[in-house]
Amino acid sequence: MDHDMTKPAPKIGIISLGCPKALVDSERILTKLGAEGYEISDTYDDADVVLVNTCGFIDSARLESLEAIREAMAQNGRVIVTGCLGRDEGAIREVAPGVLSVTGPHQYEQVVEAVHDALPPAHDPFVDLVGPEGLKLTPRHYSYLKISEGCNHACKFCIIPDIRGPLTSRPVGEVLREAERLVEAGVKELLVISQDTSAYGLDLDYAESPWRGRPVKTRMFELAEALGDLGAWVRLHYVYPYPHVDAVIELMAAGKILPYLDIPFQHASPGVLKAMRRPAHQEKTLERIEKWRKICPEIAIRSTFIVGFPGETEQDFETLLDFLEDAQLDRIGCFQYENVRGAQANALPDHVNEEDKLIRWERFMELSQDISQRKLLERVGQTMDILIDEVSEESGAVGRTYADSPEIDGHVYLDNAPELKPGDLVKAVITRSGEYDLWAEIAGDKTP
Ligand code: SF4
Repeated sequence: MDHDMTKPAPKIGIISLGCPKALVDSERILTKLGAEGYEISDTYDDADVVLVNTCGFIDSARLESLEAIREAMAQNGRVIVTGCLGRDEGAIREVAPGVLSVTGPHQYEQVVEAVHDALPPAHDPFVDLVGPEGLKLTPRHYSYLKISEGCNHACKFCIIPDIRGPLTSRPVGEVLREAERLVEAGVKELLVISQDTSAYGLDLDYAESPWRGRPVKTRMFELAEALGDLGAWVRLHYVYPYPHVDAVIELMAAGKILPYLDIPFQHASPGVLKAMRRPAHQEKTLERIEKWRKICPEIAIRSTFIVGFPGETEQDFETLLDFLEDAQLDRIGCFQYENVRGAQANALPDHVNEEDKLIRWERFMELSQDISQRKLLERVGQTMDILIDEVSEESGAVGRTYADSPEIDGHVYLDNAPELKPGDLVKAVITRSGEYDLWAEIAGDKTP
């Protein structure tokens, strides 16, 4: 059975900007293209076509996307644009009139068609094979698992419901089969993402879907429980503090999924939360956190906040700082409010001036750093499981504990790490702590 080895495979360069959700879109597109024999190129020179997956969420992300398109045009000249900014074809054509095609988010078929037009597939069934895990942009040992698209809320600073539409959940059986394939292919950690993970399945009336010969409800609890059976770390992102979240914390306490909860509070002042039109803004958040810690004492809670939202007073801001001090969250991110093109918050009165925003952000960061440092110091002396992400000559082995999500949280640096490789899970004793990171020494044999 011979096939033409002289014909080089068509090569695609990819630039993936924006959030983890956009990364999942890129992976899907590449998986399809990989199955058709395309190869991924790391350089502009080597790529036959460059695909830019853009983000259009905030103004700085728009600028970054436009800059990436401009650069890809200058360096390569054959560019296909997709992703959130694709909704604004005019802005793209203004900076790069010669782009080959522009599509919006999740238009996988159209993107693949555009690639076919620009660069026909090789049609070689022997290079068309893609491993069962698909083609992934994240390292092989962890993978994002997108469970739904869109959102039913209407937070005033956000345009996601406008650009991505209302909540559309994937049936749970489909999600679980994807997760199973990933784990079979060697993935050690599954990161569940969506716009609102607690709302998963609401649009489907939590319909049952078949999984391993039994019906499973398309709902956060059932999803988390079934994912917990797959033998990988399972980490939940973008959860809101609705009452039904408590049952999921029980799964964490039982060791089924990681005791890690990413829950974007955004603020703590009731007035600001109301002005933001945040979901669950009436929940008594501190009481909820206390309850979760009772159910699962080792839970690591991550959250993000916005300072300088229009109308935020000094008193609102102090309420936020008090909340931080009381809540003692493990991981905290903070953004200064920025107008998003098309968002309702732009029209609100009393915008906070840039200088005050910056001062508040600095005060916030100082306190959150202090909290992080204190919490990490408590880890010194503990033995923890570390999932290895990277091994290099210069920095040795770098990994994460259950309390760290990749890209956004801290690292653990291993001082003695012989022969480790990414994806290894090892036990290590924490020897030192910093503001956001930890240092550790291997406690015993590595467990594969
Ligand atoms: S919950 Fe709010 S911030 Fe999150 S996607 Fe929906 S509208 Fe946007």
